[in-house]
Parts: sequence; structure tokens; C-alpha cells
Amino acid sequence: GYHQAVKENRHLYNMLQELRGNIRVFCRIRPMFNEEAKCTIDYIGSDGSLMVIDPAKPQNARKIFQFNKVFGPTATQDEVYRDTEDLIRSVMDGYNVCIFAYGQTGSGKTHTMCGPSNRSNKDMGINYMSLNDLFQISSTREDVKYEIRVQMVEVYNEQVRDLLVADASNTKLEIRSCSSDGGLSLPAASMHLVQSTADVLDLMKLGEKNRAFSSTAMNQRSSRSHSVLTVHVHGQDISDSTTSSCLHLVDLAGSERVDNYETTGDRLKDAHCINKSLSCLGDVITGLAQKNPHIPYRNSMLTQLLQNSLGGNAKILMFAHVSPEADSYGETISTLKFAQRASTVELGAAQLNKESSEIRELKEQMDSLKKALAIKE
Ligand code: ADP
Ligand code: MG
Repeated sequence: GYHQAVKENRHLYNMLQELRGNIRVFCRIRPMFNEEAKCTIDYIGSDGSLMVIDPAKPQNARKIFQFNKVFGPTATQDEVYRDTEDLIRSVMDGYNVCIFAYGQTGSGKTHTMCGPSNRSNKDMGINYMSLNDLFQISSTREDVKYEIRVQMVEVYNEQVRDLLVADASNTKLEIRSCSSDGGLSLPAASMHLVQSTADVLDLMKLGEKNRAFSSTAMNQRSSRSHSVLTVHVHGQDISDSTTSSCLHLVDLAGSERVDNYETTGDRLKDAHCINKSLSCLGDVITGLAQKNPHIPYRNSMLTQLLQNSLGGNAKILMFAHVSPEADSYGETISTLKFAQRASTVELGAAQLNKESSEIRELKEQMDSLKKALAIKE
């Protein structure tokens, strides 16, 4: 009864996703820090549209963007998670999933992925919520035995570092031939079996500490590196058939342009690498969205690392983060353009109109199953 309904609901959800394509782009706008500042956000549509205004030139036409969903400044972590959980749960069905947080430094990437900077255990981000959710699902599934393991690495200047070892100093990891489960192609990165959210919190603390260590030592390094938390899910059912899949939760380097900075020496090298790897990621996602035969994974360390989890029927979600203040207008436009390019949503076309009857039918079936499940809960 109940389990069957859950299973059918998942199955329909996955079919629905495949029909729509496996790339989603969500935009999230953080609250204003300075109440006096002018705001660049003119309108947020419930259909995923967004209108942006240049406060310095209010006479100019508004710029319009279209995403799968836009979260405004008042959106809570719970609301964001609610629109992400179905995707995350499909890891349990054997799909590889990649979630990216993109945006300029200070726009809320780490807030979305980890939680607020004051380190309270309230308002936890997607990292924690998703592991919590995966544990919960695995405990309700008596027919399948799940094992959950995590890895966490940092990619900085095209080098990879393990963040989950006691001494995470500058031991460089090599990328080897890809593992079969869609995981990181990094046999040397430590892998940690986790059994509870307490285990996860401990590892996240270690990872953050290792990241923070280098940011004081190396001048805000953390805003110029990518951090990748990988969750490996291995399931074995009573008939001994197994599934292996991965969830990658990626807090990307700040997307700000380098010409704003004094770029000398090492900083020039940093800046150059970050731009390169973010634009490579953009090229890869755009290539996947357009179903190009050749996808340029090899052009950056990050895309090589995630290669197995980006191709095939992997599911990709990008959060484009925006700071709404007027002085961020230039970066906001470049973030939104980047995200629009990665998206398969066409400008100006409300999604519903594009939905085939097949999609609509699946959605209706899903809604009724969801209702049935809610009654049980
Ligand atoms: P980034 O990782 O992109 O550099 P952060 O996540 O560190 O940015 O966000 C910068 C600051 O803004 C932090 O103090 C963070 O707690 C706060 N912040 C970001 N997004 C939100 C939000 N949606 N609601 C409340 N505070 C936020
Ligand atoms: Mg951050």
C-alpha cells in the first residue's frame, strides 16, 4: 500500500523529469543588507521569470530572464529544500545528481548549501537537509539495505585537496580513471561511512575547518575555490541486486570578474583559473542542455572530476545566486546570463504552455499520489 504508492510516485517523478530534460536552473535572491541601497530586482514571477532594473539608468528597458523557479529574498531554507528534495531523493533510485551553487562572493552560495554564517543549527542548508532526508528514506525501506559514504574535496588552482583528513595541507590528489558509480574519479580522497546526521555534522565541521585554515593563510582562498561534497549511495535489495549512485553538492568559487581586482602575481593566477573553470562548467552544462555530441569535460579539473555524474541521465540543478544591491548590478547581469545559458527554459515562454499532454497527465497522477501519501502521514 504505502510503500507501493511511494515507489510509484518516485517512478512518475523520474519519468516527468526525463521528459522535461534533466537540467534545472533556480535563481535565489538574498535579502538586502543595506536597507537604504537601491534594489535591482523589479519583479519576480511565480512562473520563474525575473525582471531586473539598472538603478543607475532607470530609463533603460528592464532585462527579463526565465528560469525554472525564482526564490525571492524572503524564501526560507525549507522552501528551497522542498523544491529540491524530489531531485535529491532520485539518488536513491540510482540516478546521479549534481547540485551547483553559482554566484558572486557574498550572494548566498554557502548559505544555500551549508546554512547561515553564524553557525547556528537552525536554517541548515541543502548539504545537511539532503543527508538527513537520505537517512530517513533508507530507514523506511525495509526491502533495501543502503550504505551512505561521503567525500569532500576542494578544487583550487586546478588542484584537488582532500578536506576530510586531519592534515589537509597541500597534498595534491590525482584524478585517475573514472569510478564506475559516477563518483569522483579520485581514489585517493578519503571516503567516510556515515550512519547518522551527527556523523555528517562532524565531517562537515572538519571540512569547513580545513577550508577555513587555508582561507586565512591564503587570503580569502575559500571564495576562489570550489568545494565538492560527494554522497555515495549504495543500495542492495533482498534479491541481491544493487544500485550505486552519487549526489554531488558543489559550492562554486565566486563568479566575480577579475578586472575589478588588482591582479598581480599569484592572485592573477587564481583569478584566471577560476574564470576558466566556471566558464568550462558553463560550456559543459550548455552542451548537455543542447544535447551536443561532444562535451568538453577535459577543459577543467572540476568538470573532469564530475564527468561521470554529469553525463548520461544525470540530473543537474544550478542555483544562480544574486545580491540585489545596486552596486552588484553588473555581476547580477553576468550571473543571470550565465545561468540562462545553462538553462533549457526558453525566454518568455511560461513553462506550463510548453508542457505536453503527457507531462500534464503525469503531473496529475503524481499530485493524486502525493495526496494519498499525505493522508497516510
Ligand atoms: P557566498 O558563499 O556566496 O560568498 P554567503 O552564503 O557567505 O555568500 O552569504 C553572505 C552573507 O549573507 C552571509 O552572512 C549569509 O549568512 C547571508 N545570507 C546569504 N543568503 C541569505 C539568505 N537567503 N537569507 C539570509 N541571509 C543570507
Ligand atoms: Mg561561500
